[in-house]
Amino acid sequence: MTGGDRWRISVERSRDVRSKRALPIPHYHGGMRSRLTAFAAAAVLALVTASPSAQSKGKPAAPQKNDEEYTRLIKEYLQDPRIATELVDHLPASDTVPTPLKFLGRVVGTPGELTYAKDIYRYYQALAKAAPTRARYFKVGTTEEGRDIVLLAIADEATIRSLDKYRDMLGELADPRRTSEARAQQLLHTAKPIYYAISGMHSPETGGPEMLIELAYRLIVEETPFIQNIRTNVITLITPVIEVDGREKQVDTYYFNKKRAQGDARLPLMYWGKYVQHDNNRDGMGQFLELTRAVTRETLEWHPTVIHDLHEAQTYLYASTGTGPYNNEIDPIVVNEWWMLAENDVMEMTKRGVPGVWTYGFYDGWVPNYMFFIAHSHNAIGRFYEVQSYGPDPYEVRPGPTTTSKEWFRPNPPLAQIKWGPRNNTNIQESALLFALSHVAKNKDLYLENYWLKNKRAVDKGRNGPTYAWVIPAAQRRKADAADAVNELRRQGLEISRATSPFKTGSVEVRAGDYVIRGDQPFRTLADMYFSVQNYAPQNPSPYDDTGWTFQYMRDIKVLPVSEKSVLDQQMARLTTDAKAPGGIEGSGAVLVVDHTADNNLVTFRFKNRDVKMLAAEEDFELAGHTFRAGSIVVPNADRARLEPVLENLGLSAWAVAAAPNVKTHDLDVPRIGYVHSWTRTQDEGWWRAALDTFGVPYTYFADQKLRDGNLRAKYDVIIFPHVGGSAVSQVNGMAKTGSAPLPYRKTAEFPNLAYVDSSDDIRGGMGIEGLAELAKFVQEGGTLITEGSTATIFPEYGITTGVTVEEPAQLFVRGSILRAKIADTKSPITYGYESADLPVYFNQSPVLNAAGGGFGGFGGFGGRGGAPGTNPNGGIGQNVTPNALPLRIQPLDADANAPPAGRTERPSADDTAQLRQMAQQFGIAIDGTRPRVVMQFSGNANDLLLSGTLLNGQLLANRAAALDHPLGKGHVVMFAIRPFWRWQTQGTYTLGFNTILNWNDLDAGKAAPGARTTTSPQP
Ligand SMILES: [Zn+2]
Repeated sequence: MTGGDRWRISVERSRDVRSKRALPIPHYHGGMRSRLTAFAAAAVLALVTASPSAQSKGKPAAPQKNDEEYTRLIKEYLQDPRIATELVDHLPASDTVPTPLKFLGRVVGTPGELTYAKDIYRYYQALAKAAPTRARYFKVGTTEEGRDIVLLAIADEATIRSLDKYRDMLGELADPRRTSEARAQQLLHTAKPIYYAISGMHSPETGGPEMLIELAYRLIVEETPFIQNIRTNVITLITPVIEVDGREKQVDTYYFNKKRAQGDARLPLMYWGKYVQHDNNRDGMGQFLELTRAVTRETLEWHPTVIHDLHEAQTYLYASTGTGPYNNEIDPIVVNEWWMLAENDVMEMTKRGVPGVWTYGFYDGWVPNYMFFIAHSHNAIGRFYEVQSYGPDPYEVRPGPTTTSKEWFRPNPPLAQIKWGPRNNTNIQESALLFALSHVAKNKDLYLENYWLKNKRAVDKGRNGPTYAWVIPAAQRRKADAADAVNELRRQGLEISRATSPFKTGSVEVRAGDYVIRGDQPFRTLADMYFSVQNYAPQNPSPYDDTGWTFQYMRDIKVLPVSEKSVLDQQMARLTTDAKAPGGIEGSGAVLVVDHTADNNLVTFRFKNRDVKMLAAEEDFELAGHTFRAGSIVVPNADRARLEPVLENLGLSAWAVAAAPNVKTHDLDVPRIGYVHSWTRTQDEGWWRAALDTFGVPYTYFADQKLRDGNLRAKYDVIIFPHVGGSAVSQVNGMAKTGSAPLPYRKTAEFPNLAYVDSSDDIRGGMGIEGLAELAKFVQEGGTLITEGSTATIFPEYGITTGVTVEEPAQLFVRGSILRAKIADTKSPITYGYESADLPVYFNQSPVLNAAGGGFGGFGGFGGRGGAPGTNPNGGIGQNVTPNALPLRIQPLDADANAPPAGRTERPSADDTAQLRQMAQQFGIAIDGTRPRVVMQFSGNANDLLLSGTLLNGQLLANRAAALDHPLGKGHVVMFAIRPFWRWQTQGTYTLGFNTILNWNDLDAGKAAPGARTTTSPQP
């Protein structure tokens, strides 16, 4: 996690001062600190009786020698002697195993240096080669850009020799259906817990992968009883870098910036993985990304007892427990385990006088979209650290009072000021992680017993109810999407069966072929988490991320819980391969009609057959005894031999008839798609690319700067401009034009990892007013512009479209929730295929688009916004977890003349709007108060708006537009206030975007006559 998280638990913390001034590197050549003397003495004693090989030969054990140079450099690079323990203030020497210094040429924690993943891999391979009896190296995945994802297993000789056997023992403890109680009791003493450490997910958080270089060596080589105990009783798995693509870019970016002249702009880490940045830790449910899939595969293969993810975004080390509210479906034992592990870390570090190790006051524990929740949905333990940044350049840390106050969860808080550097980072997290490993080694039977118990309790839940199973009807309307959902759940480890004959169980009618998820399986926890409805009371601490995620809502499919135990006795067969919806063609005739079921594969069908003439029906109609929804695809003179296999493969149903149906149609012209991104942030836009790539929709990807080149309509029919974040003004301005030198994002021989996914000779400056005017011109000339989230505000804010106002209701509180949207215009092509009047949609706080009236003032007409900014009582922290941090403000006798003015959201300047108006006139753009067509709006009843998650003051959102189509000249600006392509979870709303693409030049189809307003009246 990083400070980039949208909703930090504490606003104060983000203001922590980090001085970037170059500091002289202090040297500490002094002896052992007195407070460590006791531990050091113990360590020396331990060394005397250390080596098991020496003992076995009956000779007195010689103390293991340290690598003197490495040990000296540890001390030299450490910026403050208080950030050290006896575990990491030295490095043992080895005759056979190369140290990081010997192999990589430097010690871990060397200022000013970062290590590429490929070099960490070379080192790990060397470790496994030099110490094959204690370490094994595995390749466990491949990234989107083709790099390896790896795993290093470390344990003692006996364990490594029988690694498969120990892995299988945990598999037995994972499944109480096949493991007897007697066998389990035996395993609790013979099996070994697996502690799986993962780092390098958030690429700017650079220290975890560095520290794991040294940890691996230490675990393999060191002969203290402390380390021996870990090696004997725990199997340590390490994936040092999980976002490998981002790591290589990060290291390139660091060295690139080092060469920049003072005053010139610095390159931010532009792309991390191919698709997303920080959201790579929000993929635990959707599991689109290779890194998430790799961890799921490892979890299902190894059954790790603990998955521990190493991050950098707190001062100095936070061990996760979270403030709560905790996820409802987590076994309560897990909560105890979180606390035991975290308190152990805090206590052991506090015992050694290391300041700033704490738990509780950060993050909640609610949404299961984090990668470490893969552990929780499989009844294991997921946890994480947030460590003060590695750098790698030394700096000062001067945290604010909410970080330094002494609290019950932070008995030895961070200091008001400290010199920090990469070795501090290594020392603190390596020590804490070693104490965690040691704790699990010492308490191995306990953690194995808990794991067994959690799996048993999960199975018992299915035997005792109230939910004995879930049924996913195979023949539901979105049958291809339902099959896709089944496959996703299966891939995550849920066992799914198909009913072999029809039956009725409780109120649920099950047909042969329907998917049945038995409740009496250990990983039903995953189903409980995904299928439940969330209720996040706003009085809780401000949520860390999304509050609602209900799987079947997000995917707009039917999942039926079964409350009758008899379901478990019904005939069903386990799915052993991917599910596939039946598809194909019924009947005969030259005309093919493909029903629009809102299945996402329809867009694939169109683009796969782009040379085939296809039409879209503009009304619902009856044909061949079937009711077809508006949007259904008519293929005249169809080549059945060619199209039938495609339909079968996609799970889509078509009817062949002799003559075209008697219904109004329009051509489905395949558009040329442009796809705009900003250089200021490449995060959320990637979720659109993920969907377009997966469903086979081609596009030309380019930066917003290129909009200034103009001539857009000649090149594109549709331009997609996904959410960037920030205000309309910041999105138009782009990256600040700092310095005089250009800031290239280019691949070079020296920096081969840059310039993926896109490149530029100078990433500074955005589209500017010129680019915005060109974008308006594109629409004016008949193009369709698709905007969502923050980009939906640009045209209204700059007054190019006049029928929508952007509201900023400060009292509205809706953080990543699922809300009820009403399909307000069933004839709009954007809503083709959707059958019911209500659609669950993902919405996150903004933008609030009001299309009900007002806003006719043209340029500068920004009236009608409600609420004062900055007064949201839930914007900061709902429940104060640092009560001593902010004392009462005592008013001085004289009035405070320096009180800061009230904040205000940045609006376009009068100069900019005047310039834009002039350009618009030159382009012939009429700012004429044209009314938008609201195709979907939030429920008018604030009381039925919330479906899952949290919501306060819903009346401020009621009846506002969720999706609208704003005509401009000959074209359309489609604005989504919702986020139709959110984190690979909102498959239910993908079709809204796909429909817009497919019907891009016929969006006026079915439009009500002027005056017949459908925009604000609630759906009957
Ligand atoms: Zn992070």
